[in-house]
This record gives sequence, structure tokens and C-alpha cells, in this order.
Amino acid sequence: MSEDRLVNPNPDGDDQQVEKSLRPRSLAEFIGQEKTVGQLKIAIAAAKARSDPLDHTLFYGPPGLGKTSLAGVIAQEMGVKIKITSGPAIERAGDLAAVLTNLQQGDVLFIDEVHRLNRAVEEVLYPALEDFALDLMVGKGPSARSLRLSLPRFTAIGATTRLALLTSPLRDRFVSVHRLVFYDDEAMREIVSRSAGILGMPISDAGALEIGRRARGTPRIANRLLRRVRDYAQVIADGTIDVPVARAALEQLEVDELGLDENDRRLLHAIIELFNGGPVGLSTLAAALAEEVDAVEDVYEPFLLQLGFLQRTPRGRIATRRAYEHLGVPYTDRGSPGDAPGGPQQGRLF
Ligand code: ADP
Repeated sequence: MSEDRLVNPNPDGDDQQVEKSLRPRSLAEFIGQEKTVGQLKIAIAAAKARSDPLDHTLFYGPPGLGKTSLAGVIAQEMGVKIKITSGPAIERAGDLAAVLTNLQQGDVLFIDEVHRLNRAVEEVLYPALEDFALDLMVGKGPSARSLRLSLPRFTAIGATTRLALLTSPLRDRFVSVHRLVFYDDEAMREIVSRSAGILGMPISDAGALEIGRRARGTPRIANRLLRRVRDYAQVIADGTIDVPVARAALEQLEVDELGLDENDRRLLHAIIELFNGGPVGLSTLAAALAEEVDAVEDVYEPFLLQLGFLQRTPRGRIATRRAYEHLGVPYTDRGSPGDAPGGPQQGRLF
């Protein structure tokens, strides 16, 4: 499965260019995620009324759902500057010290992939988050002593796709923690219409819904599909994106009506045909697909689980009846828990 697949939720080179122009700038422009947005509105209004920086905030959830965008929105709403970095980019404690001492009162420090900070860097971050202090060791050997510098009061915003990999001391220092969820069809339609408007593409509401529905509840994927559909509309049709154009373009791109691509279908077929529907262990499945375990777990599974096509059980992954039906493969009941009447949600998930 390749990194450049159309429905990969991680950004590719082209995305990074276009995303800048498509990022929502204010809370009013930010579509969906009502629960998080509602809580942020209150937190921002309260912090502003007290003239305090916003509390340290953590966003977690699959890639492409708007974590980076929300950090930018918060800085904009608070009227402060944002400094963007990421866990892997901060290699040494000294790198973090340099970033911290360059912050100004109230600034937002956005740390993407915050679960990938190394231990030595985390140790420096703890007092910075808790006491706005930087502890430096001066001298060596017996005469070494620690010197405490005070930092401006800033807001750290962390983002992670893997909450479970965050150490608990780090997690505890984020005062507000928000889970971003996949967007529903209506929110996806609005996002596609908004992006089309910004990029100057004529699109019908139903055309936007058709693209939104196939974008796996993920705005980054919707924006990418939109750009590909535009190419098709310009070359094959008269430039306007309506339902027939969206459908024909996405069919040609092999993204089906639920947003599954060839790789998802290959994964489901592997479970069904090679492993008799499962259960199959994650590493065995990844090996059969010649894939990294992380890619299967982070990129493929979340959406297939969300659709109820896949179940995680203590004994491994199982393809559900819905997956068989979607692929048009006859289902044979193996008495697995997720296939009881009422659908896979009632299964024994852990
Ligand atoms: P993440 O940091 O979670 O990977 P991003 O914030 O980079 O996601 O979002 C990816 C792209 O998706 C953004 O450039 C933006 O265009 C779009 N996007 C995300 N959330 C929204 C939203 N709520 N409304 C409109 N566009 C969005």
C-alpha cells in the first residue's frame, strides 16, 4: 500500500501547498467537531476576559481531521502568534530550550506528533508547562548546579494520532484534552463546498456531498479528491462538478461509494480469503500484505473499524458480515460475536 494513495489521510507534498489556503482561520469558519468547538469557544472567551493565555490543550485523533488547523484558529482567536514544531523535530533538550526562550507572552507553541518527543526533551518540557520555567544545568561534576529561568506564560497545543503512546506525566500537563472525530456527511459536504469556493470551482451541493461521502470523514482527503475531480471536470465535462461528474471521476480513481480504495479492499479480501474471515493477528496480516504494522493500524484500520467492516478482538482481526456484503463475497457464519443480529457494534470490542 503506497503513501501516495488518494485516500491516505497523511499529507503529501501537493496537499501542503494547497492546505495553507484551505485552512479555516477562525472558529466561525471551522466546520463540524461541535463538541470541541463549543468547549474551545468558552475556554477562549474566559481566558480573554481574564487576560490570561489559554490553558495547555491537547488534540488527538486520526490524521487530517483538523488538529493543526484548530491550533491556528486558537492563536488567531486569542490574537497571538503561533510557533509550529513537532516531536521528531526537537531532537535535543537544547533545541526545545531555544524554542521556549523565543516565545513571547501568550504565544501558542504547537507541537505536532507530541507522542514522539524523546525523554530528555520531555523532562525539559514538564517545568515549562507547569511553572513556565526552564531548568538549566550550569557547570560540570561536583560544582554543577541548576539554574531556573522564567519563561513567558505561553499556551502549548499538542497534537497526536496515538494518545496511548503519550507518557502520563506529559498527558497530565495538558489541561484540556479533545478527541477529534470523523466528520459526518453534512459537515463533509460543507467542507467540500467551502474548499471549492476558495479554489474557484463551480460545484453543486449534491456534487459536494458525493465527494464528501467518499472522503472517509476526513477533510484532508476531501480536499484531495476535490482537486482530482476538478481535473476530470475540466477535461471531460464542462468544468462544473455535479453528481454524474463526481461519480464518474471517483470511479475512474477507484474510490468506491464508501471511500474505500484498492488497498482497503485488498486488506479485507486478505482477511476473508487468506485467513477465512479471521481472527488474524495484526502482524500476520501486515506481513501478508507486505505492509508495516503501523500503517495497517494507523491508516487502514480506523476507517474500516468505523464502518463496522473490521473488528478487533483479543484473538485478532475479523472481517464482519458487512465487509463481505460490501465486497459481494458470500458470507459464511462462523459464529463470531460481531455478526450477531443487530450489527457489529454489539460485538465484543476491546
Ligand atoms: P491534522 O492536523 O489533524 O492532520 P489539518 O489541520 O492539517 O489536520 O487539516 C487538514 C486539512 O483539512 C486542512 O488544510 C484544511 O483544509 C482541512 N480541514 C480540516 N478541518 C477542517 C474543517 N473543520 N473545516 C474545513 N476544513 C478543514
